[in-house]
Amino acid sequence: MFRSATFRLTLWYLAIIMAISILFSVVIYGTSEQELQQSFRRESIFYQLGPGFRVNLDDGQTNATPQELFNDAKSRLKLNLVIINAGILILAGGASYVLARRTLTPIEAALEAQGRFAADASHELRTPLTAMKSEIEVALRGKELSSAEARQLLGSNLEEIAKLEALSAGLLRLAQQDGQAISKSPVDLAAVSSAAVKRLSAAANKQGVQIDNRIGKMTVGGDSESIVELLVILLDNAIKYSPAKSKITLDATTHGHWVNITVRDEGQGIKALDIPRIFDRFYRADTSRSKQQIAGYGLGLSIAKNIVDLHGGTIEVASRPEKGSVFTVKLPLAS
Ligand code: ADP
Repeated sequence: MFRSATFRLTLWYLAIIMAISILFSVVIYGTSEQELQQSFRRESIFYQLGPGFRVNLDDGQTNATPQELFNDAKSRLKLNLVIINAGILILAGGASYVLARRTLTPIEAALEAQGRFAADASHELRTPLTAMKSEIEVALRGKELSSAEARQLLGSNLEEIAKLEALSAGLLRLAQQDGQAISKSPVDLAAVSSAAVKRLSAAANKQGVQIDNRIGKMTVGGDSESIVELLVILLDNAIKYSPAKSKITLDATTHGHWVNITVRDEGQGIKALDIPRIFDRFYRADTSRSKQQIAGYGLGLSIAKNIVDLHGGTIEVASRPEKGSVFTVKLPLAS
């Protein structure tokens, strides 16, 4: 599809360039012809040359009337313009192809990414659906269900539905973020970080980890709900991937016009091999513990990265396996 689109776009660019070039050539030819005609007429009158007068040029061979010289100059002008246009055609052909590729490559990449995203999303959506379907099929195939068995089946189905809900919420969030711009206003970082910590206090208690929020009063430029969401994602991961009785520290320091927010945990850490990929959609590091036991779909950090990108900031991670991780988000201070 993109090969034929490149070909068609190349032809369009080429047609536009050649139309302009031919138009200019016609104008140049028209004005030059007039000029030539006038100058030949002026010289004929000046030297009082009759129609039969012949000119001997320096080359010793040309013996022509002024009209023949005029016609000769005209055809040389025409030939030069044709040669110039042929040159432009060849150069413009190459340039048009390069331009067409440049125009279409990002669109091709975006379409490919969308296709991959749809394929990954449907694969992830199928997993809980298949689990639910097979559990129900097994239950229907056997003898009558006792109420305890029915309750267990419903409970398990409910868990899968909760996973589907979480997954579709993540997918929806990513879809909303595509091509979206945020409206920036001054955001009190102390207030948004407290809100994020509050949202996760139940999860932190359940996991037995303590969150130490050291963020003081400072104001960043951004969207407060998105910044709460960003901190919730980072804190939620820190909780999920940390052992009981460990500590998570949330801090922020200013550097010039920027603030560096850090989320530090003492959890399982991330292998150097996985670090470049953890911000990719659906990527989950393949550790013995995380994939099987810890809930998630690998969407959190890509949503977080989108939020940071929309704010014109950066997000980085430094980590040591079995020692912990530090996520650093750089956001602009409110001007
Ligand atoms: P998930 O839903 O799997 O947590 P994320 O996109 O939030 O998805 O994270 C991607 C992967 O990065 C996780 O599966 C995990 O392997 C790794 N990760 C993220 N945060 C941490 C952390 N604080 N400690 C250890 N690993 C982490």
